[in-house]
Amino acid sequence: MTETDSPKPLSQQFSAEATPDSLAAEGITLYCANHPTVETSLRCSRCDKPICPKCAVRTPTGYKCKDCVRSQQKVFSTTRWYDYPLAFVLGAILGGLGSLLANALWIYLILLLAPAAGMVIAETVRLAVQKRRSLYLWQAMAAGIVVGCLPALALALLSLNFWSIVTQGFFLVVVTSTAVARLRGINIR
Ligand SMILES: [Zn+2]
Ligand SMILES: [Zn+2]
Repeated sequence: MTETDSPKPLSQQFSAEATPDSLAAEGITLYCANHPTVETSLRCSRCDKPICPKCAVRTPTGYKCKDCVRSQQKVFSTTRWYDYPLAFVLGAILGGLGSLLANALWIYLILLLAPAAGMVIAETVRLAVQKRRSLYLWQAMAAGIVVGCLPALALALLSLNFWSIVTQGFFLVVVTSTAVARLRGINIR
């Protein structure tokens, strides 16, 4: 007699039809929805399906089954492919302009303006992609900002002017981090 011929254990028959609540109430062992021979106590936090540790994906809102993670990602990411180069180019142009401007400004003014510049870049990118969402858009933007700021930073390093280097380094770090925080904050909501 092969394994498939043998009658299934009662609990396994139940796990196919019974609701999760009735299962819990009867104290029946759960079996993974994808691996019917693996006992588990985990459930998907979204669809309540029993899942074994192999099938569970850890997310900020608890363990989920792979199906739920996949369908959520599909809903979440609404970007088109060209949004990424767009975010990169905008980050590079605006970051580059900002870093050149920073060279001409008083250091204390830069302290005030750099966070605002980061916000402006993030908002510009967001509008340019028509508010489409993506978990990874910020990476394209951040890479653009860094590349855009490199010429001014390289000039500062070559000039060996301490304050230019500090200014450019500070500008790059603050602009990138505020822009990223802004864009990620929007996209995670
Ligand atoms: Zn699920
Ligand atoms: Zn499993």
